Amino acid sequence: MSELLTIDGSMGEGGGQVLRTSLALSLVTGRGFRLEKIRARRCKPGLRAQHLTCVKAATRVGAAEASGVALGSTELEFRPQALLAVDLELDLGTAGSTALVAQTVLPALLRAPGPSRVRLRGGTHNPLAPSFEFLKRVYLPWIERLGASPEATLERPGFFPKGGGRVDYRLTPGRLRPFELRARGSIREIRAEAYLANLPDSVAERELALVREAFRLPASACRVIRPRRPRGPGNAVLITIESEHATEVITAYGMKATRAEAVARQAIEEAERYLAADVPVGEHGADQLLLLCALAGGGAFETLTLSEHTTTQCELIPRFLPDLAIERRELSAGRWELSIRRH
Ligand code: ATP
Repeated sequence: MSELLTIDGSMGEGGGQVLRTSLALSLVTGRGFRLEKIRARRCKPGLRAQHLTCVKAATRVGAAEASGVALGSTELEFRPQALLAVDLELDLGTAGSTALVAQTVLPALLRAPGPSRVRLRGGTHNPLAPSFEFLKRVYLPWIERLGASPEATLERPGFFPKGGGRVDYRLTPGRLRPFELRARGSIREIRAEAYLANLPDSVAERELALVREAFRLPASACRVIRPRRPRGPGNAVLITIESEHATEVITAYGMKATRAEAVARQAIEEAERYLAADVPVGEHGADQLLLLCALAGGGAFETLTLSEHTTTQCELIPRFLPDLAIERRELSAGRWELSIRRH
């Protein structure tokens, strides 16, 4: 058995992403790892419910042996024995992000010997995490471009703090090919949606009115989504930007004591930054796409100024895949190119 890689969980961004990326890469390389100082840069360090579910999911996919798998644990050892196609059903038990759990195992399942299904219960629209629509409209189409066939169904949305959402992902692997996404092309459509659960109609109306005005959208490009039988209140504003070669989904979340106008403005400002930069990949997607490119053995794309999540991936990926070189190049102010290839 090869020696465990030691990963410092406080590196770079120092949060849950170091854990998830390490699990994903361990599954595909078969290389076990010891993660120390887990989420050391967070105010409540150690594994939380979402991270525990990520480890549980990865343990199934990798028929792995794991130790240190407990709430609050700051050290984990993970030893995968295989890479399996799975039919997984997991409940986070909290409103933790189902998207982040899915993103832990879907990359590895691209290399599994057969189709997989991953059903999760928890949060589907969580602050500081990808929304379900981001996964469906942005992340899964990247996976499709790599050569696999993904599908996603939102059975019920779940909002922080009540959760109770249900998602169903299916993935059929294919032959992976390197990924290039350098140009966005012309903008084809911008549309806006507002999720509204157990809150007054005026919240969504005020949000959509601001987005409509900012991007001069027709009424037909805006809609309110009212989930049936939601648990607890929930509100999110989504702006979807379809262009010739890429789709971007920007999500801002309503929170107690945050005005509807502030939620809409946050989404509008992020959409404006994306539109102004004329790049295909938005500020949150770059770290996620980099991992997919690494699994495909190479690729290149343009994005906005690199987030700390992205620079952390640039350091972490070569720890598991030392034959890959990642290059970051600033093309102009706020526009970056990331490329990944074999040495
Ligand atoms: P922690 O509490 O440790 O920060 P976490 O596990 O909830 O942990 P992060 O490590 O911060 O999360 O990782 C969050 C991930 O979600 C990153 O990949 C980030 O790029 C992505 N993300 C955050 N916000 C969005 C968004 N609005 N749209 C798409 N992706 C997002």
